[in-house]
Amino acid sequence: MLKPSPVTPDEVKRHNLARVMRYLHENGELSRSDLVLLTGLNRSTIGALVSDLAKVGLVEEVSGVGGSRGRPSLVVRTSSSHNFVLAFDLGVDRIVAAAVGLGGEVLATIHRSREDGPYPVKKAIATILESTDELFASLPTGAVWLGVGIAIPGVVETELGFIRKAPNLGWIDVPFGQLMTDSLCAHIGVCPTVVLGNDANLGAVAEFVRGAATATSSVVYLSGDVGVGGGVVLGGKVLAGGSGFAGELGHMVVNPTGEPCNCGSRGCWETEVGRDAIFSAVGFLPGQGSFSDLVAESLTELTDIKRALSGVGEWVGVGLVNLMNSIDPNYIVLGGHLAEIYPYISEVVDARIDQSRPNTQTRAHISLPSLLLNSPLAGAAEAAFGPLLSDPLHEMDRAFVLI
Ligand SMILES: [Zn+2]
Repeated sequence: MLKPSPVTPDEVKRHNLARVMRYLHENGELSRSDLVLLTGLNRSTIGALVSDLAKVGLVEEVSGVGGSRGRPSLVVRTSSSHNFVLAFDLGVDRIVAAAVGLGGEVLATIHRSREDGPYPVKKAIATILESTDELFASLPTGAVWLGVGIAIPGVVETELGFIRKAPNLGWIDVPFGQLMTDSLCAHIGVCPTVVLGNDANLGAVAEFVRGAATATSSVVYLSGDVGVGGGVVLGGKVLAGGSGFAGELGHMVVNPTGEPCNCGSRGCWETEVGRDAIFSAVGFLPGQGSFSDLVAESLTELTDIKRALSGVGEWVGVGLVNLMNSIDPNYIVLGGHLAEIYPYISEVVDARIDQSRPNTQTRAHISLPSLLLNSPLAGAAEAAFGPLLSDPLHEMDRAFVLI
């Protein structure tokens, strides 16, 4: 029979430091009284924890407003521009990189386009190293680098830093986390923690932590790219599934007599609402620009675009009905191409949902992303902060200072 291992005072302190750090990271700034209320810890414990975090430069106490008897009150806030992570979003036609401060402040971004299609791993690594140099050059000396997060459009074993498959990059069984750590070690002489995640899962986390769905604990994020990826957060946690690969929402079969899908099936949701289906409906060629840019250049009447996309809108509605019936999320956030086309299809989508769920009172709120960065990139930053938010003092011990 197993018995729980003893909990030492050090473990309790580590746990409490992590809780306080996470509350501050997600809220930006809080008073000590707020922290007492949120954690249930007493005032002197909170004082000691804040002081420990301040000593290593993770937080600072500054004058706030609204103190009693006319005195300004002190608020605790993250030292955002001083502590940062690097985040990367490896898209099908782009790599976007960002330096993000503790608390979520975006410090710098870089956007690089690339040709659609297979992407040699070596080339991806070289671009990430180049972007790292560029981001470092834009940050002040003395800033503390806490890690790296990378969003991948594919099936990822996050714990192992292993990419099982990323069809749109042409990758199968790539130990990308280790390759990236080794490459950074060789390139800049320090070896940071690299955290990988599926792009849609990271998008869902970002929208839940600081985006469109902060008011709820159940959200589905849909990444509309060449395919359609899905990330599901339920009860504040990413839905992993039995094997860790839940969220292949683009491969729900919605039209069994539809087009073949690159997964080997037929009539998957993404064959009906993926980028190629959208572009072909309006007569654009994929790879020539974003949907919005092409619409702006085409001088096509709004009503014509709406009419051309009505079939796609119908299929978007069918998929959303299935998600509402199976998952019952409070929010569904549409990313990528789905966000770009939503203004043209929202009426068709609403009609499909009303028609398919006539007797259902509850309905997910359909939302567009509301972050400064794209959602998977913001989620990659959150993933990179993960180790720090679990054990702040230990991670500060192994962090790197820019010189
Ligand atoms: Zn499929």
